[in-house]
Amino acid sequence: MEYYSSQISKLIEELSKLPGIGAKTAGRLAFHIVNMPKEQVGALASAITQAKEKVRYCRECYTLTDSELCPICASEKRNHSIIMVVENTRDLAAYEKIGKYQGVYHVLHGAISPMLGIGPNDIKLKELMERLKGDVEEVIIATNSSLEGETTAMYISKLIKPAGIKVSRIASGVPVGGDLEYIDEVTLLRALEGRTEI
Ligand code: ZN
Repeated sequence: MEYYSSQISKLIEELSKLPGIGAKTAGRLAFHIVNMPKEQVGALASAITQAKEKVRYCRECYTLTDSELCPICASEKRNHSIIMVVENTRDLAAYEKIGKYQGVYHVLHGAISPMLGIGPNDIKLKELMERLKGDVEEVIIATNSSLEGETTAMYISKLIKPAGIKVSRIASGVPVGGDLEYIDEVTLLRALEGRTEI
């Protein structure tokens, strides 16, 4: 027997598919949404569909952006010969928030995880290798310090080294398994400045 209208049940079901949203929160959000003014619901729905339609990968660094080239890759003020490799766009945002890094990025969109069946071909690694054919001085590997992040760092380093490009890894101090996005700016800056060649 349905306790609610089937439309509300459907909304709850969709919302609870989102990360971090349990059945209880999904229910609360669903009832909140149906009580919202119509325009506000329209704005929310349109923001979701527009984001999905308009957001794409930057053709250089593969971060999520609205234009062909993201503002960082398009900037002449950035040092395009230093590439920091991060797992996702949120990690990029964490480093950008410090405002001290002058190089550019490469977003992998994941990390190698044999356990989850994610291999080198499932992340933007070929795309990184393609970029390294250009004028690149240093690659800073800033993947997370989780098992997957470390595996990815080792893999990339082995792949790049023969090309004679300097490869460095951000310093530990970033808590093991810690998502870069949740680490405070001082720790992040220290990790970046204390990077070591690998
Ligand atoms: Zn870019």
